[in-house]
Amino acid sequence: MISRVRNVVNSVMGGLAALPQPPERPQPDDLELKYPYCRPEFLQLSQDEIQVSADHVSRPIMVPREPNRLPWSAGYAEVINAGKSPRNEDQAATTQLSISRPARTPNRNTNKANNKGNNGNSGEDNLQQEAMAEETEEMDELHFTYFGVFDGHAGTGAAIMASRTLHYHIRDKMAEVSELLLPVTYEDQNHPGTGSNHGSGSGKPSSKVITKEHLIIGALERSFCEMDSQIERERLTFRITGGCTALVAVFVLGKLFLVNAGDSRAVLCRNGEAIPMSRDFTPESERQRLQYLAHLHPHLLYNEFTALEFPRRLHKTDLGKQTLYRDHTMTGWAPKTVTEDDLKFPLIFGEGKRCRVLATIGVTRGFGDHDLRVYDSHCLIKPFLTAAPEIQTYDMMEQRFGEDDFLIMASDGLWDVVANQDACNVVLDALTQFHPQDPNRYTSAAQELVMHARGTLQGKGWRRPAEDKPASGDDITAFIIPMYHYGNQHLSSPTLLSESEESSTREMETETEAEADPRPDSLEP
Ligand code: MG
Repeated sequence: MISRVRNVVNSVMGGLAALPQPPERPQPDDLELKYPYCRPEFLQLSQDEIQVSADHVSRPIMVPREPNRLPWSAGYAEVINAGKSPRNEDQAATTQLSISRPARTPNRNTNKANNKGNNGNSGEDNLQQEAMAEETEEMDELHFTYFGVFDGHAGTGAAIMASRTLHYHIRDKMAEVSELLLPVTYEDQNHPGTGSNHGSGSGKPSSKVITKEHLIIGALERSFCEMDSQIERERLTFRITGGCTALVAVFVLGKLFLVNAGDSRAVLCRNGEAIPMSRDFTPESERQRLQYLAHLHPHLLYNEFTALEFPRRLHKTDLGKQTLYRDHTMTGWAPKTVTEDDLKFPLIFGEGKRCRVLATIGVTRGFGDHDLRVYDSHCLIKPFLTAAPEIQTYDMMEQRFGEDDFLIMASDGLWDVVANQDACNVVLDALTQFHPQDPNRYTSAAQELVMHARGTLQGKGWRRPAEDKPASGDDITAFIIPMYHYGNQHLSSPTLLSESEESSTREMETETEAEADPRPDSLEP
């Protein structure tokens, strides 16, 4: 593949001279490493254990030493690839965070007003009472639980950075709209800019009704964008290698938000049935988006590639003959006469796991890859990649979940060889062997699932003996998240909000911008 591209590139080098050249950047090898290689913190691995976990011959499956370090004793297991890269390029993270602001109620405000003017106490007494009130003031809080899977490529830097940082971006983006997310207060209700429709009568134009769900989705989208921008900025001062996909689950406001930028996958198992919770983004599934981008900005192809897709690679002997093609407007095929332009290497070429963008990369969404180029060329890949996620929401309050209902989040190393329903069946079988309250229950199920995909070493290759099929040689990462905990927690906590508390239409830009702080480059505390 690479040699073919090299030929294509060499044949058009004359044409490159006239194209703008990218600015010189510091060589990554000269920069200090942003993060040393590590495994997820909740595994609690020593340096020796990290080395053992990277053994490509035995491929040990690593699980948390203390499963209750994960929220709801969720299950987790991982295994390194079969030699594809020296290190495990997958990463994972989980945490529980909250945003808060002082609770404000009509009663408290009334009392404070009374304390200041009409209670007959001395000024000193009033100050003491106000100080005590400050100390005991209630906080409105919004809790969320977060799980993330990051599948790295061409290095471990971007995946490690995302696993260490993305949840802080999410927290901060939610905090920027905390005034709109947290309970509607006395002031909110009396604010002249609030209300569901002020178009008639107030003289203001009608505004859209924006729910809290919309605000969470907006915060998640912005946090993904900010994560990628942070890598782009900090790669100039630190060594942050490669790129990564990102699959994130956020449990908040009684809902599950599945945020996906890449080809990791989330599958919900409810009553034994597998329900897809994300779509895989690949060069094939994103063909039309990529072709449209090339159509709008043909210079991104550096005169080396064609945006059209053909049933096979065309050669000089095809010139003037009829072929089939499709462009960004088409899902079907149409005939055309082959021209010189059609002989260029296709923007998207290959099938299945071998399909590549610009003959270089097999993923289309995620973080990093800002300096990735076509081999031996100035042609940048990044313009075709996006950090923009697709978000699916699932109302956790609409139905009750049992102890055998769970969410699987796993990197493509699992899904390459295990179908959704098969994965659910493997986990269900494993769960039957444990008491529902056993904290090891979901971790053992995750271990079984990863073992099912990794298989066993037979001769020179890894195979799955149950099906007598090839096993996965990729890094494999899997969370098994029990679903019943969140519903119970949400119903029992008075500080958590229900969807019915809709955020009324507001003067959103004015209010949120006034609240926002300038954010530092690094959001880690
Ligand atoms: Mg992978």
